[in-house]
Amino acid sequence: MPEPHQPGSRKLLKRLRETLSEAGEGQERLDAITSLIACEMATDVCSIYLFRDADTLELCATEGLKPEAVHQTRMRLGEGLVGRVALRTTPINTADAPAERGFRYMPETGEERYSAFLGVPIQRLGERLGVLVVQSREARAYSDDDVYGLEVVAMVLAEMAELGMFQSSADGMSARHTHPVLFRGGTGQEGAAEGRVYLHEPRVVVTNPIADDAEAEVERLREAVDKLRYSVDEMLSAAPLGEGDQRQVLEAYRMFANSKGWLKRMEEDIGRGLSAEAAVEKEQSAARARMEQVPDAYLRERLHDLDDLSNRLLRLLTGQGQDDGSEMPGNPVLVARNIGPGELLAYGRKLRGIVLEEGSVGSHAAIVARALAIPLVIHASRITTEALNGDPILVDGDQGIVHLRPEETVQNAFRDKIAMRAKAVERYASIRDLPATDKSGATVALHMNAGLMADLPSLPSSGAEGVGLFRTELQFLIRNQVPRRGELAALYSRVLDAAQGKRVAFRTLDIGSDKVLPYMKPQDEPNPAMGWRAIRVGLDKAGVMRMQLQALIRASCGRPMSVMFPFVAQLSEFTEARDHLMRELEREDRLGHTLPESVEVGAMLETPSLAYAPQKFFELADFISIGGNDLKQFFFAADRENERVRHRYDCLNVSFLSFLEWIVMRCDATGTPVSFCGEDAGRPLEAACFSAIGLRSLSMRPASIGAVKSLLRRIDLSELRKVIETARTEGEQSVRARVEAWLIDNTDPE
Ligand code: PEP
Ligand code: MG
Repeated sequence: MPEPHQPGSRKLLKRLRETLSEAGEGQERLDAITSLIACEMATDVCSIYLFRDADTLELCATEGLKPEAVHQTRMRLGEGLVGRVALRTTPINTADAPAERGFRYMPETGEERYSAFLGVPIQRLGERLGVLVVQSREARAYSDDDVYGLEVVAMVLAEMAELGMFQSSADGMSARHTHPVLFRGGTGQEGAAEGRVYLHEPRVVVTNPIADDAEAEVERLREAVDKLRYSVDEMLSAAPLGEGDQRQVLEAYRMFANSKGWLKRMEEDIGRGLSAEAAVEKEQSAARARMEQVPDAYLRERLHDLDDLSNRLLRLLTGQGQDDGSEMPGNPVLVARNIGPGELLAYGRKLRGIVLEEGSVGSHAAIVARALAIPLVIHASRITTEALNGDPILVDGDQGIVHLRPEETVQNAFRDKIAMRAKAVERYASIRDLPATDKSGATVALHMNAGLMADLPSLPSSGAEGVGLFRTELQFLIRNQVPRRGELAALYSRVLDAAQGKRVAFRTLDIGSDKVLPYMKPQDEPNPAMGWRAIRVGLDKAGVMRMQLQALIRASCGRPMSVMFPFVAQLSEFTEARDHLMRELEREDRLGHTLPESVEVGAMLETPSLAYAPQKFFELADFISIGGNDLKQFFFAADRENERVRHRYDCLNVSFLSFLEWIVMRCDATGTPVSFCGEDAGRPLEAACFSAIGLRSLSMRPASIGAVKSLLRRIDLSELRKVIETARTEGEQSVRARVEAWLIDNTDPE
């Protein structure tokens, strides 16, 4: 057991605990703490600043500064030395504060007399709560041990704040975890949901931050770390061999779990008076604070690993499991930092909504949420630290907004919105079996996009004519190893069974770019979206593609088969892939398997180059599906995953519409059926414009079909085409405004 560096901090923590057990509530408690610290550390001043709101710190208690400044002195995040400590979540220690960069003079506090300044952040698991400061008249330099000691105290303070000790002060200091909070994130899946918070990983509650018997605590910590190492080794031996990503993550876990520095730092904190749990949490907080500041994605990921490992260790120490006994509410809204696609699937359709702190539009979790049609908001920063199990919550997936513990007025307005949606869904149900035929008699075929068995029930209920895009990679993404041929054949067969004779266009594996298989060696590519992905991987590693084609052939067994290759950029890629399919058909035939009744081979047009391919390509392809998501990103050179640029270019920009028209024209010239299956097809206004320029087949999320069909049935596409033409000839950049205005006057009522 290491000797504590500064037995003073043990004594300080002990006194702190005694003081806390005697002091009253709220303000009294804060005052008692500041006097105690000032006295024990022999400083002239000790002050506690807490966040009043996300950007403002307020002096909440002080020993040494003018008492009338309490609850009066405020500063913005980043302002003055205190604001800088809070912003950077690192201590500032200076013997000459007025000379320090960023110093702000606050006359109301009388602090000009103080020269030495030491401020440490009060934070809990990356959540900034405030700043703890000591100051002295003499220009003394606080020692490293002083800094360390004050950090340990700040850690205990953070735990107390967490336990609600500061929640009800006489001056109305806002109560944590009780007031309404608005989060502005991003849209992962549209839709609105009202429900109650269900935390995916409830936080481990540390109830005993201070411990008397350091030896016993170190013993507990070592035992828990041993168990942790053992469990990581077990996970490693269970992980598939090879150089997969999963193994790499586990190797990183093992490295951290065996890191001497990590254990040593925690043991030192125990030596200073913390309990084993609090010591783990202190390290975890430091890792989270660093995580926010590290720009390098790889290093951030590693800090993330350390964070996960700390969570495991905390669970071992406290015995609190993943399941904290809280029941899933009747209308659960899942709140998590992030979640894997497999875990999300396990919750399934039970969830009303999902809110993630991380995630991205193209993340696997987002793909699954979309498949399950559950409203999803991503990038809701800090929601896991603010939300408690059971809190009322409203998820607005359209705007990417979340209201936690909403006010009644917000709740009522939101309910109206949900009711309007429900009415619309009812109206769409009444036209479900009618065709999407416009007023001039033109019919647009509406298909749905899918990727999971869970999607298939939507096929009859949405009114889709078939599945225009079945993304087969989802089955690969949610597993830990390459699925076997038999497994895939069984799955594809079930998909075809569920489709009950309706067409399903299976797209072969589209991996790479943002879709990284957990068991595939990660490629170090500067631009993965333009890198080794989709058909490029399929042709270079033909074994997996051939296995997939065999599975599809076997699943089709006497039924029509429709298959398309993703991301074809030139004729030869299509012919090569097609040849593979032809060879597999022959092979399956030789092996005595029943062949499909018919075979359609298509290509996804996702790169501008393919629109200018030789005529032979259009003749050879049985159908073409425009992957608008990728096509748009390459047409405008704007990353579809980059929130900064992805909204910059409108798909109704005349350049893009003209390009789509060109593709339609080329397909018409050879009589090749063409369809559009990017996300934009599911937006009614966009769908109408695409139809007006000649696309007569669209594939979209099942939930969008009703709204698209409803609009198409109430307008005249030939008139709309004229509006588009006029906007184009008159030099508009996008036809959107003109079309919107036209729709208002030229759409029949529902
Ligand atoms: C597309 O790019 O439009 C498409 C449908 O494929 P994905 O979104 O899976 O890349
Ligand atoms: Mg694509």
